[in-house]
Amino acid sequence: MALEEIEERIKKCTLCPLHLTRKNAVPGDGNRNARIMFIGEAPGKNEDEAGKPFVGKAGQFLDFALSDAGLERKDVYITNVVKCRPPNNRDPKDEEIEACSPYLDEQIKEIKPGVICTLGKFATSYILSSYGFDMEPISRIHGRIYNVPVAMVKIIPMYHPAATIYNPALKEQFLRDMRAVAGAL
Ligand code: URA
Repeated sequence: MALEEIEERIKKCTLCPLHLTRKNAVPGDGNRNARIMFIGEAPGKNEDEAGKPFVGKAGQFLDFALSDAGLERKDVYITNVVKCRPPNNRDPKDEEIEACSPYLDEQIKEIKPGVICTLGKFATSYILSSYGFDMEPISRIHGRIYNVPVAMVKIIPMYHPAATIYNPALKEQFLRDMRAVAGAL
């Protein structure tokens, strides 16, 4: 399925109750020929309003980290495991991830990134298990490169950029991991 069609389906999706409270679904944004794909958790308030991923505070730090590593948003593709905002930014539920993740699988199939960078535990857990790896705490595995030669992809877990706002000690680590992502290509 073409990327545009996946995005159109997401915008009209009613597969889980999150469609009832969203303003906009947030399919994803960026370069369809990207070699690096970033996967976050779910849209927040600003993303729900804009229909675009990572446009709030966490997104500003993500942009800063990208440019610090010599990357730009227009070079990469950014999406989330869950495409609609959970009310009050609560964690996504298992059944919401289950309903929504086929869209992510399709996006990965279309974009065929060489590097998948997972931001935070929900994206990391989903992607590691999809490719047959065990989940471990992000504090242990952030920055690690999981090689999947048969799929010609490397998976690199990172902290969620919002975590660096709550815990500024993680900022340097996030920047270092981002440089590893840029260097993994
Ligand atoms: N947090 C996420 O995980 N995704 C967004 O798009 C914004 C904030």
